[in-house]
Amino acid sequence: MHKRLFTPGPTEVRPEILQALSTPQIHHRSKESSDLYADLQPKLQKLLYTEKPILLFTSSSTGAMEAAVTNTVKKKCLNLVNGAFSGRWHKIAVMNGVPCETLEIEWDKAIKADLIDQKLASNEFDAVTLVFNETSTGLMNPLEDIAEVIQKYPDVMFLVDAVSAMAGVKIEVDRLGIDICLAGVQKAFALPPGLTVVSVSDRALQRAEEVEPRSYYFNLPLMYKYHQKHQSPVTPATSLMFALNTQMNSILEEGIENRFIRHEKMALYVQKWARKYFDIYPEKGYESKTLTCFRNTRKISVADLSEELGKHSVRISNGYGKLKEETFRIAHMGDTQIQDIIGLLGLIENILDL
Ligand SMILES: *Cc1c(COP(=O)(O)O)cnc(C)c1O
Repeated sequence: MHKRLFTPGPTEVRPEILQALSTPQIHHRSKESSDLYADLQPKLQKLLYTEKPILLFTSSSTGAMEAAVTNTVKKKCLNLVNGAFSGRWHKIAVMNGVPCETLEIEWDKAIKADLIDQKLASNEFDAVTLVFNETSTGLMNPLEDIAEVIQKYPDVMFLVDAVSAMAGVKIEVDRLGIDICLAGVQKAFALPPGLTVVSVSDRALQRAEEVEPRSYYFNLPLMYKYHQKHQSPVTPATSLMFALNTQMNSILEEGIENRFIRHEKMALYVQKWARKYFDIYPEKGYESKTLTCFRNTRKISVADLSEELGKHSVRISNGYGKLKEETFRIAHMGDTQIQDIIGLLGLIENILDL
């Protein structure tokens, strides 16, 4: 039986979207395919408050993270690390031979802008990687403050993993000077996995021209060349593009601001419940608006709770990696509604006898 997903990726997908996935195939060099690609551009640009091109990667988010650091770093990249995914970005840079260094802090603390300022003042760096919403810890880093600091350094590329935030939280790409903003669609877009949405600034494209290519598949100038014809260099995930188009229409119909408000309301509801019965993992003021990472203060067995919830056809997530039993996570993103959240938390109250 299907378990309704309250996991922070993949998230629950609506039947209408599943339907769109089974649209009959079109050829990727046909006019219909270019029309579909072109149709998506203004919708995605509106969502991201940008006029920059949006590239579609046939890969999960990790592929786009790899593309970001391999295409835009000439000198050295500063990897901001306070969780599993931000740590992954550093590993990706290392494995690709991209010069890099970490600024690492404790996982339950947000990365503050002044720390970054101190680092960048050395002039060693020409790129910074930031995971806006750390899905491993349910922590949202202060994007606005960080953007302000990075904008003081004109040569520094601002690379942002917005995987579990995009389409759930407002991200003003152009105003914040974000050079690459990426997100896989299986999180707040509420689509099946396999496609990543990536905005790319003119500066990033320029830099990519100057960097020795490390990859054929993850090659921004090549992708941009095809983008201008509303195509991609390789066969795209056409089915997912149909689904994304259907979903973007729904998102615009709901209203993007309304969508962000809905996410905010769900987050506040879960956070209040979390503080009543448990505690929240990240430091106060930096709680994610798309998922909540609970501190397991009652020392419940997260595995047992998950199993019980499974019997009721729902699924939440345990803690990520080293936080497996110390925390657990509930996603409130995508097409999830507040009633779904109220139902889930009520069920947990019953199971745990709270
Ligand atoms: C899920 C996630 C990723 C990795 O996504 P994949 O689709 O598994 O490649 C990266 N960053 C963040 C913040 C995520 O939530």
